Amino acid sequence: MNYEPVIGLEVNVQLKTDTKIFCNCSTQFGAAPNSQVCPVCLGMPGVLPVLNEKVVEFATRLALAVDCRINKHSIFARKNYFYPDLPKAYQISQFEEPFCEHGKLEIQAPGEAPRNIGITRIHMEEDAGKSLHSESFVGKNETLIDVNRCGTPLLEIVSEPDFRSPQEAYEYLVKMREIVIFLGICDGNMEEGSLRCDANISMRPVGETKLGVKTELKDMNSFRAVEKALEYEINRQEMVLENGGRIEQQTLLWDANRNVA
Ligand SMILES: [Zn+2]
Repeated sequence: MNYEPVIGLEVNVQLKTDTKIFCNCSTQFGAAPNSQVCPVCLGMPGVLPVLNEKVVEFATRLALAVDCRINKHSIFARKNYFYPDLPKAYQISQFEEPFCEHGKLEIQAPGEAPRNIGITRIHMEEDAGKSLHSESFVGKNETLIDVNRCGTPLLEIVSEPDFRSPQEAYEYLVKMREIVIFLGICDGNMEEGSLRCDANISMRPVGETKLGVKTELKDMNSFRAVEKALEYEINRQEMVLENGGRIEQQTLLWDANRNVA
């Protein structure tokens, strides 16, 4: 049987505002650990987060660039999760009523006709902190937490599952990076984590319209890594299905050194 991949992408764009999304702390990269922090971005009881106007302006620029419909009303929500680099244990994000929806971006993979990729939604949210393992001041078998990044503004761009190949995903990421740099809302620096991408992927028999069980791919630190991770996962899922197996819904971490998930 012939299978086709169905791929969706979630891109996180770190906005280059001077200050964080809900407080006046600096967003400057590379400062001494835990030097850019205040009660608001640490989520102390009783604080009052105030939305940074610049974040709304930047979100508006992107919404217009990718043909999204901007919602007149949009709300923030607390997404609770317990993770060491998020000491307050919730992220302020948007769930119902995101900033904008129903956009599109035209891409063209090599040798293919141009095609529109649907953009489901773009929402505003705050970033988490960072776990430090490999820095010189971190002891062996130790992890330290730097909360400077807590509260740095992000836009999350969620695509429709419209990609049919890893090459299309790559083209979309390259184009999205060009757009956010052109709009002046993100420096596009992947090494510093200004652009990050997660992918979800399922396979289905060619001609089938129902979606198969998907897996999520995380920890890819370049666009080429996204492409490679998708190629790997397509082969893996195809082999499982051809041998009569079932795909389990799970999150896989990409290991760029070994090229496996
Ligand atoms: Zn702060």
